[in-house]
Amino acid sequence: MMLDEILAKNVEFVKDFEGEELSHHPQKKLAVLACMDCRLSGFLEPALGLERGDAKIIRNAGNTIVGEDAIRSIAAAIFSLGAEEVLVVGHTECGMAGSDPEALRQKMIDGGIDEAEIEKVDLKAWSGVFDDEKENVIETVETIRNHPLIPDVPIHGVLLDIVSGELEVVVDDR
Ligand code: ZN
Repeated sequence: MMLDEILAKNVEFVKDFEGEELSHHPQKKLAVLACMDCRLSGFLEPALGLERGDAKIIRNAGNTIVGEDAIRSIAAAIFSLGAEEVLVVGHTECGMAGSDPEALRQKMIDGGIDEAEIEKVDLKAWSGVFDDEKENVIETVETIRNHPLIPDVPIHGVLLDIVSGELEVVVDDR
């Protein structure tokens, strides 16, 4: 089990770690919405120059806004935790780009999900798949900006090159 490995690694980690008490308020007053892509782990923060405690980082499949959950987190970062700026980070080679809702549907059925339940949702909208990473960043920024529960704060969008680590500014709200 992966959990055994994780628990063993944690024992080693705690042995070497001196412990550190940090504020839960983001020191750089920044909220980031990024993709859950595993290649961003340990890569996203150094690429953005962020240290532990600097930013609220929200990650989901494809850095998209589907439903209210990412909005809830961004609103909490702003109203409860002091974030004053939002950054949407898309990345190249995103698995959510061009992925096929029909293939997903089949995998869900194969995985034992009740077909009637799948029929209840618009799978393309629900899964948040999109055609183009850059367009998706623009759309996500617009969705956050136009949301009635999000105040007037700068909301930028960037595209991170998953290979080189280079950032391209897609929406500049400076
Ligand atoms: Zn992605």
